[in-house]
Amino acid sequence: MTNESFSEDDLVDAFRKLSGGSSPGVSVGIGDDAAVVESPGGEIVLTTDAMVEGAHFERGDLSAHDLGYKAVVASVSDVAAMAASPRFALASLVLPEDAALGWIVELYGGMREACEEYAVALVGGDLSRGGGVAIVVTVTGAVAPGRAVLRSSGREGDRLVVTGSLGGAAGGLMLLHATDAKRALTGTTSRDLITAFTRPVARVGEAQVLASHGATAMMDLSDGLAKDVSRLCRESSVAARIQLSDVPVAAGLDDVPGADPRALALSGGEDYELLATMPADAVPAAAVDLKEQFGVSLSEIGGIVAGEGLVAIEDDGSEHALEPAGWDHFA
Ligand SMILES: [Mg+2]
Repeated sequence: MTNESFSEDDLVDAFRKLSGGSSPGVSVGIGDDAAVVESPGGEIVLTTDAMVEGAHFERGDLSAHDLGYKAVVASVSDVAAMAASPRFALASLVLPEDAALGWIVELYGGMREACEEYAVALVGGDLSRGGGVAIVVTVTGAVAPGRAVLRSSGREGDRLVVTGSLGGAAGGLMLLHATDAKRALTGTTSRDLITAFTRPVARVGEAQVLASHGATAMMDLSDGLAKDVSRLCRESSVAARIQLSDVPVAAGLDDVPGADPRALALSGGEDYELLATMPADAVPAAAVDLKEQFGVSLSEIGGIVAGEGLVAIEDDGSEHALEPAGWDHFA
């Protein structure tokens, strides 16, 4: 191993170059939330996600059941972010010697629960021994030809919207690690924050509502708002302006010891909310539909402009460049 430094995005770029141009039957290759391939009567969306002990989670932070549940939700969320319907899953588990049978059965139970909740058929996988726990979940989805919503189609003049609220999962993890967590745990919002971390929601129906209202680009927020907006902008060759006061901050973050609520909303990962771009006149009706059908809010947090990079607009109107800080497994 060398100490050469590279980011997750650097690696994805390198892999994309190595895999060359377009292949027959591949509509969207490496670089989006999921790939899109042709199939008779439609297109299939394909994604895979690894959760590795030490890199993505610590075994002490959540139960085996929640860990299995969350691993499936993370991949279902990527299919959802393409505006596709999740269908089939494959799960590969790497298990160390010290993982007890009961723990493994609980893990599988959590995966099964998530699959049932999202109507996904778990059709296979692989088991292997290894030094730590790793869970690799592949999920396929179905979408009508040409209807997958990509990261790369955001347009100058679009508005930038997000579902739900942000920073909750990161706040929940901080609460789990806080020494005075017992005291903080007495509040309902504190329990909501921990649930946001342990039991995330994949916005499957919500994504289809946003697509039906003309979302031009979409992705799920797994690595933090600032980082993921910068990815969408890079793929769409545009820039974004974000009104910080409009970023929806999860309730209860003020009560988390040591937490900066706005910083968590901007760079905390694992919220699995949707980020989308859409024409300004489509936002109000989309917000009403999301609220009525799912009880989920839609916040307009800024707009897409020409250029590159992110600009944050402070409460007093001052502006500054927003660094795409967030979760990077390799940084
Ligand atoms: Mg994603």
